[in-house]
Amino acid sequence: PNEQVQPDPAKKTLVVLGTGWGSVGLLKNLDTENYNVIVVSPRNYFLFTPLLPSCTTGLIEHRSIMEPVRTILRHKKAAVKYYEAEASSVDPERKVVKIVDNADGKTKGAKTAETEIPYDMLVIGVGAENATFGIPGVRENSCFLKEIGDAQLIRKKIMDCVERASFKGQTQEEIDRLMNFVVVGGGPTGVEFAGELRDFFEEDIKQLIPEISHRFKVTLIEALPNVLPSFSKQLIEYTENTLREENIDIKLKTMVKRVTEGAVEAEVVKADGTKELLKVPYGLLVWATGNALRPVVRDLLGKIPAQKDSRRGLAVNEYLVVQGTRDIWAVGDCAVAGYAPTAQVASQEGTFLARLFNNMAKTDAHEGRIKELSSSLNLKQGNSAEVATEIESLEKQLRRIKDVKPFKYSHQGSLAYIGSEKAVADVPWFNGNFAAGGSLTFLFWRSAYLSMCFSSRNRVLVLLDWLKSKAFGRDVSRE
Ligand code: FAD
Ligand code: NAD
Repeated sequence: PNEQVQPDPAKKTLVVLGTGWGSVGLLKNLDTENYNVIVVSPRNYFLFTPLLPSCTTGLIEHRSIMEPVRTILRHKKAAVKYYEAEASSVDPERKVVKIVDNADGKTKGAKTAETEIPYDMLVIGVGAENATFGIPGVRENSCFLKEIGDAQLIRKKIMDCVERASFKGQTQEEIDRLMNFVVVGGGPTGVEFAGELRDFFEEDIKQLIPEISHRFKVTLIEALPNVLPSFSKQLIEYTENTLREENIDIKLKTMVKRVTEGAVEAEVVKADGTKELLKVPYGLLVWATGNALRPVVRDLLGKIPAQKDSRRGLAVNEYLVVQGTRDIWAVGDCAVAGYAPTAQVASQEGTFLARLFNNMAKTDAHEGRIKELSSSLNLKQGNSAEVATEIESLEKQLRRIKDVKPFKYSHQGSLAYIGSEKAVADVPWFNGNFAAGGSLTFLFWRSAYLSMCFSSRNRVLVLLDWLKSKAFGRDVSRE
C-alpha cells in the first residue's frame, strides 16, 4: 500500500522553497491543515546563522545550531511533505516548479533525479549566494562563510595552516604566509569571523603551539572607508579600535581585484587620492563580501517583464507578492522589500506570510459558508431571521479578516561580536537609538542569541559548547 499522505483535492497546494529563516518563519506559524504544503530545499535542516562564525574555530559544534526540518514539521497539525532537492526553475505560466535531486555526495550510485511540482501558491525563500563580483581567483582559492560545510572547511584549514607552519624546516617566509589569515569584507560576517579567529589563537593555539603563535596575524580588507557600514558612527569607531587592539590589521579603502593561490592583490586608495597596488600573502582566505542572486531567482527574473530592472532580487509589493506575478510570494535575502538582507527581516516576513495565508484560508471558509446560507435563504429553508443574523455576523468577521495590514518590519536592533569577549549593539530605544559596545554588551549578545536559538535542544547544546570550550579549550583535532 502507498503509505504516503495524499494531497487533499479540496485544498490548494502551497509550495515553499527553502528551509532558512524566511521559509521556517512561515512554516512555524502556518496552519498547515488549510493547504497541501510541500517544502523543497537541498538542506534538510534549519541553520541558525548568527552563531556560524563560532563554528569555524570549534567554539560551538556545528550540530548545535542545526535543527532538522523533519523535527520542525513533525509538530505541525497536518502533514507536510518535504523533498530534499533544489528548485532549478519556476514556470509562472504553467504554475510548476522544476526540482532536481542532485545525488552528488549522497547515496553512492544514485542518479540525479528531476521532476516537476505543480503549485497553486508558491513561496520563494531560497536565500542568496556569495557575491564574488566576478573577481578572478575568488571561487578557486577562498572559503566562504554561509553554510555549515563552509565553517567545517575553515576549521580544517586553520589547523592545516597551523600544522604546516610548525612543520620541520619550514622557511620563515612560508611560516609568515601560512600564519596570515586574510578576511575580505568588513561587514558583520567578516568582522565576527576575524574576532573569533583572534580568540582561538589567544585562548588556545598560544598555549598549545607557542613556538609559532607570535607569527599569527589576521588581515581584514574592506573597500569602504570603514567596517560595519550599517552600524552607528560611534560603534564603528569602537569596533575599529578594538580590532586594532586585538592586533587585527584593518586595511580600509582597499579593494581586492585578483586572488591567486597564495596571495590577494588589492588596490588601496591613499590619503592623497592616489592608488597603490598591494599584494598580501595568505595561508587562509575567507571571502565575505555579501550576497548575490541564486540561479533559480535569476532565471525567474528573466521570465517576468515587470522585474526587468531588478538586480538584487525579486521585487515584492507590501504583501510580499512578487511584482508582475500571481500567487508567488518571496521572503528573505532573495526578496527586495526595502530592508537589509538579515535573519530578522526574513523571519518577520515568513511570519507575516503565515498570518496572511491563515487569513486567506479563513476568508475562503467564511465566503463558502455565507454562500451556503444565502442559498438556503433563497430557498426559504429554516428560520430566515436567524440565518440572516448569522450571515451578517459572518460578513462582519470577514471584513475584519480581510483587512490585513501590509508587511511592516520592526527592527529589534543590530548586534555583532567583535572578539575578546566584546560585542557591539545598536538597539532602537524609544524614539532614538541606544548604542553600546564592550563586555556587558557581549553578555547581552550571548543571552540574546541563546534565547533566539530555534529549539530548547539547540539552546542546551550551545550553552554546553560554551561551557565546554571555557573549561577544556577548543578541540583542535583535524578531522
Ligand atoms: P537562508 O537562511 O540562507 O535560507 C535559504 C534556504 O534556501 C536554505 O535552506 C537553502 O538550502 C535553500 N535553497 C537554496 N537554493 C535553493 C533552491 N534552488 N531551491 C530550494 N531551496 C534552496 N542576520 C541577522 O539578522 N543577524 C545575525 O546575527 C546574522 N548573522 C549572520 C552570520 C552569518 C555568518 C551569515 C552568513 C549571515 C548572517 N545573518 C544574520 C544574515 C542571515 O543569515 C540571512 O539574512 C538569512 O539567512 C536570510 O534568510 P533566508 O531565509 O532568506 O535565507
Ligand atoms: P555585507 O554586504 O554586509 O558586507 C560586505 C563588505 O564587503 C562590504 O562592506 C563591502 O564594501 C566589502 N567588499 C565588497 N567587495 C570587496 C572587495 N572586492 N574588496 C574588499 N571589500 C569588499 O556582507 P556580510 O557581512 O556577509 O553580511 C550580509 C548580510 O547579512 C548583511 O545584511 C548583514 O547585516 C547580515 N549579517 C548580519 C550579522 C549580524 O547582525 N551580526 C552577521 C552577519 C551577517
